[in-house]
Amino acid sequence: MQSTDNKKYDVVIIGSGLGGMVCGTILSKERKRVCIIEKNEQIGGSLQTFRREGVTFDTGVHYIGGLAKENSLYKIFNYLGIMHRLETVKMDEEGYDVVLFKDDTEEYPYGMGYENFKRVMFAKFPKDTEAIETYCKDMKRICDSIPLYNLREGEPEDLSAMATGAKDYFEKLTPNKKLQNVLAGTNLLYAGTEKTPLYVHALVVNSYIESAYKLKNGGDQIAKLMARIIKENGGEILRKHQVRSIDVENGTAKSVTLSTGEKIEAELFISNIHPAKTLAMTETDAIRPAYRNRIKSLENSISTFVLYLILKPNTFPFRNRNYYYFDETDVWKCTDYTAETWPYMYAMFEEVPEKQAEFAEAITVMTYMRFDEVEKWKDTFHTTLEENNRDEEYQHFKRQKAEKLLDTIALKFPNIRESIQTYYTSSPLSYRDYMGTDDGNMYGIVKDYNEPVKTMISVKTKVPNLLLTGQNINLHGVLGVTESALVTCIAVLGQEYLLNKISEANAQTA
Ligand SMILES: Cc1cc2nc3c(=O)[nH]c(=O)nc-3n(C[C@H](O)[C@H](O)[C@H](O)COP(=O)(O)OP(=O)(O)OC[C@H]3O[C@@H](n4cnc5c(N)ncnc54)[C@H](O)[C@@H]3O)c2cc1C
Repeated sequence: MQSTDNKKYDVVIIGSGLGGMVCGTILSKERKRVCIIEKNEQIGGSLQTFRREGVTFDTGVHYIGGLAKENSLYKIFNYLGIMHRLETVKMDEEGYDVVLFKDDTEEYPYGMGYENFKRVMFAKFPKDTEAIETYCKDMKRICDSIPLYNLREGEPEDLSAMATGAKDYFEKLTPNKKLQNVLAGTNLLYAGTEKTPLYVHALVVNSYIESAYKLKNGGDQIAKLMARIIKENGGEILRKHQVRSIDVENGTAKSVTLSTGEKIEAELFISNIHPAKTLAMTETDAIRPAYRNRIKSLENSISTFVLYLILKPNTFPFRNRNYYYFDETDVWKCTDYTAETWPYMYAMFEEVPEKQAEFAEAITVMTYMRFDEVEKWKDTFHTTLEENNRDEEYQHFKRQKAEKLLDTIALKFPNIRESIQTYYTSSPLSYRDYMGTDDGNMYGIVKDYNEPVKTMISVKTKVPNLLLTGQNINLHGVLGVTESALVTCIAVLGQEYLLNKISEANAQTA
């Protein structure tokens, strides 16, 4: 373990997820002495990877939207100083995502760039060109109305997409059910349900239509590159240290106490962990019970079961595409699966091959899984730091699930079983234990268009020097969390100042 030497920092950040790392990078570039405290062995939260049999698997970032030079995420990463070092691979422009349905032999690809997207979609739905045009215009309009998404100053101009349901929108857009479901077919990206607001769909899907990239050798490079910058700027990252409490005196946060009992003091504290967990570890009258109860009562998104396949050499072509498969043509009810209907849907992501470009070496397949399925093992805990292997019944449960998922995959990829060398799995328990949540949720707090204000959480708390960041604030995903971190840093540095810095950095490297 690294020593903390009871030093006082300008900023202490709890959690080294993407949100914490972006805040740490920005504030360390502003000469603030930053200390990031991470409970795990590896930094990065959902950016973490693991290696098996010489292959790297991502655990929570399979592709990234908005990384082309003209896009916002590129500009932010460029300002942060990591863009030129990222090993990116552009996905297939003719179809980076492909939607599949069980009883339909057609494949429905998403072309990259709005012109490609329309051309490819028109070919599949020649009678629906007007609806597709309207959809593209609406997506661009919604995204354009949110200034920060475009790195502009100001407040959102049109809030109607927050109070509109994505499913309702598609039903009004076109009577063609297949088109509705194809256009919403990547909704695993935001765990789409009937509650999902339209703006969530728009912000997430637009970023991939603009440009879709995979990272070669895993998403953890994002966290590692930022860690290097933070350290170069005098900051510290303490791995294997768990924060137990945030200590508030006279309404101001003074220190955090680690599970070892050690205290670390700072002027400013930023929590990158779930807001309910942050509040639970912050004892103070400054935070009212009503606010605590509101945050505690918010629903979290569903969790996931993941199958990691290591493939035999030269057996499964590398397509540079993701596949989103559905058993039935209603993409909005996937999270309501039953034991019989599971897995109902899956998303299949190829890892970028390290050795052979033509053949995939590894594939990750994700499907939904509610925490109640693993409730039986809720009192067990396993991470690389605490290796308590779970019982044989749990291993059997995971094998059964994996085999059922493989049966579903084989419907569209009949040679999948012959191509598999080995497979590994993870369940909601893995996500719970590594991320430190209660339920292994994928994307944090559920956004609900029926109650848009209730599910919006400010980065500011009633403790003036305690701020929040991460996927629970604003939006999840690499783009969403990076923008959430901008909102957090704007609360420290000011909007005009930070946006100018980003703009200047990009002007210098143009
Ligand atoms: C299965 C899955 C697939 C995904 N796929 C994609 C994708 O393809 N593209 C995309 O853009 N996004 C994807 N996402 C979403 C994206 O990965 C997340 O939204 C994002 O990484 C979350 O970042 P965060 O800052 O909220 O922190 P988190 O990743 O939640 O990290 C929080 C960190 O805090 C640490 N921590 C918790 N408690 C404590 C404590 N008490 N003390 C110290 N440290 C603590 C945790 O260990 C963790 O490291 C996916 C997510 C999942 C789960």
